[in-house]
Amino acid sequence: MLDFKNRTALITGASAGIGRAIAVKFAENNANVIINYSGNEDGAKETERLCKEANQNARTFILKADVSNMEDVDRMFSEALKLTGEIDILVNNAGITRDNLLLMMKPEDFDRVLEVNLYGTFNCMKKASKIMLKQKYGRIISMSSIVGVEGNPGQVNYAASKAGIIGMTKSLAKELAKKNITVNAIAPGMIETDMTGKLTDTQKSEILKEIPFGRMGRPEEVANAVVFLASEEASYITGQVLGVDGGM
Ligand code: NAP
Repeated sequence: MLDFKNRTALITGASAGIGRAIAVKFAENNANVIINYSGNEDGAKETERLCKEANQNARTFILKADVSNMEDVDRMFSEALKLTGEIDILVNNAGITRDNLLLMMKPEDFDRVLEVNLYGTFNCMKKASKIMLKQKYGRIISMSSIVGVEGNPGQVNYAASKAGIIGMTKSLAKELAKKNITVNAIAPGMIETDMTGKLTDTQKSEILKEIPFGRMGRPEEVANAVVFLASEEASYITGQVLGVDGGM
């Protein structure tokens, strides 16, 4: 078991899916957990309940903020610091899709996906880096996607946002390496969450053909990779994109 005693992890978009699994995994491993959400308060409370179920001594805090809004992000980080005194681990997990073929894609759907997925990651990276530089310690892990590496029809907005996260990760890793702060990304394949729940059965069976493992991944399988990259054991790993995709 990895031990995050006295470490604080802030996870954006932790009211569902992969973010929830990451929060629970950190709680299980003794971290203080900050559960961010933007609209789904009940979901955030359910994540908190699951954290306590996993570890009755878990210290958890719920903070509402739209990551695309810098004022919200500023307030969230200030409140988080007041509550826990430090932020050692940032997981940029919040993300949305607004799929359509390019010719039909509305500019506002392109913008919104970039605002949440890419600008949201930038906003949180900026706040967290400042805090981590003072601490001379930090771990930043951002959720990219196989779609950011390979592309996918109907997702030019999403692919652009996730490819952007990879570029930001590799650049920031170089900026912060001498300060004992690692910056990495995860590129999940197809994971069973509400996001992929929107796919039709036909779409799913087409996708399954592309997965050597022959099944979709579970949120916990992504969470395992996140806690590893956040651990002491990953101290010399930075600027990497780790695929969690069943061999896709
Ligand atoms: P999900 O089940 O739809 O959950 C998305 C989370 O993001 C929710 O907690 C949601 O909270 C939050 N969120 C959305 N907009 C937000 C905003 N503006 N500010 C703060 N939080 C916001 O999605 P998921 O499948 O778990 O995906 C999590 C991450 O993994 C995303 O970045 C996604 O792109 C990436 N990913 C997923 C897959 C997959 O197959 N599922 C594959 C590759 C990458 P509220 O509802 O409270 O706003």
